[in-house]
Amino acid sequence: STAAAALEEPIKPPVSVEYTQLLINGQFVDAASGKTFPTLDPRTGEVIAHVAEGDAEDINRAVAAARKAFDEGPWPKMTAYERQRILLRFADLVEKHNDEIAALETWDNGKPYEQAAKIEVPMFVRLIRYYAGWADKIHGMTVPADGPHHVQTLHEPIGVAGQIIPWNFPLLMYAWKVGPALACGNTIVLKTAEQTPLSALYVTKLLHEAGLPSGALNVVSGFGPTAGAALCSHMDVDKLAFTGSTETGKVILELSAKSNLKPVTLELGGKSPFIVCEDADVDNAVELAHFALFFNQGQCCCAGSRTYVHERVYDEFVEKATARALKRSVGDPFRQEIEQGPQVDSEQFQKILRYIRAGVDGGATLETGGDRLGEKGYYIKPTVFSNVQDDMLIATDEIFGPVQSILKYRDLDEVIRRANSSRYGLAAGVFTQSLDTANTVMRALRVGTVWINCFDTFDAAIPFGGYKMSGQGREKGEYSLKNYLQVKAVVTPLKNP
Ligand code: ADP
Repeated sequence: STAAAALEEPIKPPVSVEYTQLLINGQFVDAASGKTFPTLDPRTGEVIAHVAEGDAEDINRAVAAARKAFDEGPWPKMTAYERQRILLRFADLVEKHNDEIAALETWDNGKPYEQAAKIEVPMFVRLIRYYAGWADKIHGMTVPADGPHHVQTLHEPIGVAGQIIPWNFPLLMYAWKVGPALACGNTIVLKTAEQTPLSALYVTKLLHEAGLPSGALNVVSGFGPTAGAALCSHMDVDKLAFTGSTETGKVILELSAKSNLKPVTLELGGKSPFIVCEDADVDNAVELAHFALFFNQGQCCCAGSRTYVHERVYDEFVEKATARALKRSVGDPFRQEIEQGPQVDSEQFQKILRYIRAGVDGGATLETGGDRLGEKGYYIKPTVFSNVQDDMLIATDEIFGPVQSILKYRDLDEVIRRANSSRYGLAAGVFTQSLDTANTVMRALRVGTVWINCFDTFDAAIPFGGYKMSGQGREKGEYSLKNYLQVKAVVTPLKNP
């Protein structure tokens, strides 16, 4: 039945594409070169729209607009309350257009419409309201001095922020980055991912309707090595934030260092362990591990992609995890009750199929899936491997697809050591009924987030980021503000000599 669903004629998306140009200085404009690139429907590989292709010259224009908007205002010079009200109005407008925005996101990315409409757009709204709430609560300190001095700190916006986002959660990544930067009074040049340029243009139009002054947020669609690299290398960009692969993160950091040493925050890849302890309720653990891996077609940086299961419950777990994957409904993401749509593009699709072949060749047991679904588009059958060993490619590399790898372990010390023996350190899940076990594992893991008996809980106030090669810095929550603030110490003698 899942195969049949994928093969049906694609449903006509309930939205049309209105904005395809770059958004610079409050205006929709063509690329300086006049070039465009097609953005594709992952259900079919067909063109949705041709989008203006920004490159270095457009980045220069956008940075100039952001610079002027920062240096001359009004955005950083407005009262915090005025900025807050604009962000709140923006959230209201996005909420009003929830369904169109969700439809654009699904069309461009392939994620289930129900997920976009019921989880992601509402979460976007929640994040923007959260950051709006911070706008008028950012302030410095009065600091005790040894001498007869009055010392205070000012928390000032850092300037022009360059932000580069990926395609897996185009809207949420926008909110994670744009929210804190604007709340702190910065101006921005945002480079969207070439696979998914559409939703950011739509919401940024709404942000201007909400009262954002021209130049405060500029959106440039385009490719990484051209537009993205130009943003990283720009001498007039004061801060850079990136979410994407670890490989590209290294390039970003290097370009930033070689140009003007702009500070960089990086949110990169992961290979997150999901540890099922011997006391776990197996049915719940199976369901949660399934969600941890397969959510968003497996295209999550924090996907629970190493499922470690205690030997005492291992056989039962493998059998049930396989049955659950077989039941997963895959098909047109605009259909109701679809759990999994297509992968985002042909490159990702091919890469995942290569990893599946590597799993088979490496000697893991393919329990189910292992192949594309249908003939058209980028659908992949939910895939489960058991008997996975730590040194296999499918256990070390980020696959970014619907491929679950199950590994067996014997005792807690062993699984902690194995979970930590990764170059990544983004997140982990622990499934146990014992508070002692949860506490022991939670403290021992070198990762930025530990979910205990839950996974992918992403409130606006919870900080997120990686240890090791999963990144630098934290996004969301109060921690994210410091990425976008400079601290100025001001010293005044208590009494002039
Ligand atoms: P993926 O491999 O999943 O597409 P990337 O890390 O390559 O992940 O892409 C994430 C974002 O980084 C996208 O917006 C992409 O255009 C951008 N990007 C890719 N390469 C570069 C680069 N050399 N310089 C700057 N940005 C880049």
